Amino acid sequence: ATIFIAKEIEGEEPRVAGSPDTVKKMKGLGLDVIVEAGAGTLSRIPDSEFEKAGARIGSTADAAVADVVLKVRRPTAKEIKGYKSGAIVIAIMDPYGNEKEIAAMAKAGLSSFAMELMPRITRAQSMDVLSSQANLAGYQAVIDAASEYDRAIPMMMTAAGTVPAAKVFVMGAGVAGLQAIATARRLGAVVSATDVRPAAKEQVASLGAKFIAVEDEEFKAAETAAGYAKPMSEAYQAKQAALVAEHIAKQDIVITTALIPGRAAPRLVTRDMLKAMKPGSIAVDLAVERGGNIEGAVGGQIADVEGVRVIGYLNVPGRVAASASLLYAKNLMTFLETMISKETKELALKLDDELVKATMLTHGNDVVHPNFGAQPD
Ligand code: NAD
Repeated sequence: ATIFIAKEIEGEEPRVAGSPDTVKKMKGLGLDVIVEAGAGTLSRIPDSEFEKAGARIGSTADAAVADVVLKVRRPTAKEIKGYKSGAIVIAIMDPYGNEKEIAAMAKAGLSSFAMELMPRITRAQSMDVLSSQANLAGYQAVIDAASEYDRAIPMMMTAAGTVPAAKVFVMGAGVAGLQAIATARRLGAVVSATDVRPAAKEQVASLGAKFIAVEDEEFKAAETAAGYAKPMSEAYQAKQAALVAEHIAKQDIVITTALIPGRAAPRLVTRDMLKAMKPGSIAVDLAVERGGNIEGAVGGQIADVEGVRVIGYLNVPGRVAASASLLYAKNLMTFLETMISKETKELALKLDDELVKATMLTHGNDVVHPNFGAQPD
């Protein structure tokens, strides 16, 4: 079988869906690998390194012979035209709200897979792109905040006086939030964090941060069986907002990461809360692409909201592209491996595999995923 590692659209996506490591692995499995010229440039992987790993460097047109196309982003209409019917396409498909684009992949006869729908079970941990990318985003959020902040983060005791440690508050202590906490701690900040899932409390504490939350009965039941947050009642949100408002006023840096699967991000920080912060305070909204946790955050910009600089960078994992690509490529490789027969070394989609069932959007000209298929009439 032939694997095609595509070059993403420049200016939109610096990551790449393959690495020299994963190419080597694919070659070992008996696969042919074509890497589109320049695919790794922005992730600091020159074509020569892909070549050394056993890939052939090709052009966009080579996608037409691929049995499997590996991408970071969902293919555009133009890209889809270049793929053969029956090809497998694996990417971060961003399917919610993009049902038309999904239908177009079905029409083109593609078997498409959305990596972000991978179930969070032990077997699939090494294929979990949400975790691998969110971890880096959490790290980068702190780095971005630190570079905008006009003060030092750690406490410094010098002959000329003492610089106080920055106070960093992390809202949402999932994968990104926990890495943000760890990174801010490493820089010497005094860190606190909040989440609506009770399980987060212990994790926050184990990283040396203080946990801030209204811990009532609703809080104790706020985690779904899948380990995600539930949308909270208005009454709870009001109580939490009051607690948070009081706490934020004393912070220097706020980093928000709160998401609820398949919904808009919860609004956690209002203009009034920002107004209460000190001059020079910084906020980072990692949820800005999903509607934002912070009032006034603007995607792709640093917005001045009530004197606080609110960082709304898009595609934050792409800001650490070289690291993000290595992990993403490995996630894809591990998933691809489950589709290769060990005996024949040929592609063998197992339609009853739970990983396939959870992630497959389209197959044989149909939208097959239950969340995006059968439109109600
Ligand atoms: P996420 O990106 O969906 O959300 C980020 C965080 O925001 C979550 O911790 C969520 O609880 C929190 N949040 C939502 N609403 C909030 C609100 N109103 N106020 C404050 N916080 C709010 O979550 P995630 O980072 O993908 O992780 C969710 C959980 O899944 C975590 O417990 C994580 O450890 C777990 N997980 C498990 C596996 C696995 O078992 N393989 C893999 C990855 C993550």
